[in-house]
Amino acid sequence: METLKCVIAGSGPAGYTAAIYAARANLQPVLYEGVLRGGQLTTTTEIENFPGYHQGVQGAQLMEDIRKQALRFGADLRTGIVTQTNLEAPPYRIRLDNGTEVMTQALIIATGASARYLGLESEQRFKGMGVSACATCDGFFYRGKNVAVVGGGDTACEEAIYLSALCRKVYMIVRRNVLRASQVMQDRVLNTPNIEILWEHQTAEILGDDSGVTGARLVHKSGREKVIDVPGFFLAIGHHPNSEPFLPWVQVNPDGYIITQPKSTETNVRGVFAAGDVQDPKYRQAVTAAGSGCMAAMDLERYLSMQCGL
Ligand code: NDP
Repeated sequence: METLKCVIAGSGPAGYTAAIYAARANLQPVLYEGVLRGGQLTTTTEIENFPGYHQGVQGAQLMEDIRKQALRFGADLRTGIVTQTNLEAPPYRIRLDNGTEVMTQALIIATGASARYLGLESEQRFKGMGVSACATCDGFFYRGKNVAVVGGGDTACEEAIYLSALCRKVYMIVRRNVLRASQVMQDRVLNTPNIEILWEHQTAEILGDDSGVTGARLVHKSGREKVIDVPGFFLAIGHHPNSEPFLPWVQVNPDGYIITQPKSTETNVRGVFAAGDVQDPKYRQAVTAAGSGCMAAMDLERYLSMQCGL
């Protein structure tokens, strides 16, 4: 069985940035690119808040650029999904979706989190064409327009408040007659004049044409239908961190996010580090993920030099 110095799982900004740093430190990282090469950002359109791209960049292009930078320094980028691990003691055992296994001295988990979607066919059709799961990424495109946010948690409230500063009106589509969000966030939403909460409504269909989303057809608990005209439709019904292959070894919080030490990427398993959205329910930005990927590679380098003299 192949024994490696350093495996990185995941190919978002955290994984590729970790690969750049690890490759430049001559750690010969092997990165498994996972389910979606390039990660969540490849499903968005233009990104305007990643430093350095002063004219904006398409999400897919940004990821391709970071990928090329990792390749330039000799990172070994491989197709494969980490499906299972044994992290009892180093060297750690990693199993891939094609059934092969490798051993590694150290591991960086950068498998990200997946936004939850409603599961509607129309939602898939308009993904990136008005349907978004990130107001900070895409809200800017709807300046002065009406938008909708689905969800009643802290994320939905935060996104609605963020959008209310840019957009004419924000509809919050809430399936119950209460918000799940913390009281302070509820108060802020309820005190924002251009947020209208549509209580006890579910989305039946997202409406649109070749240009993208034009509205949504909602159904009230009573069965009454309502159509809202919105070119932007934001999902905020939670994220799902992709931490399963690393359980039960790494500690996670009740929502499944990997717990790292403060100001560090160390997990409870020595030589196993976590970076990006799989350990970050709060910031979830490309630039913060990239930053934590850098931290993970530096933590890993220090670990290997102390433990193995590599
Ligand atoms: P949550 O799980 O807290 O909330 C999800 C919301 O989406 C709920 O209102 C839920 O409704 C609704 N929802 C779920 N599925 C559907 C569906 N199929 N159709 C319609 N609505 C649906 O997720 P969040 O992302 O908001 O928050 C995750 C965690 O992160 C929480 O612990 C939160 O407190 C924390 N957080 C903290 C922040 C902060 O402190 N600033 C900012 C953002 C998040 P229902 O209530 O009916 O189940």
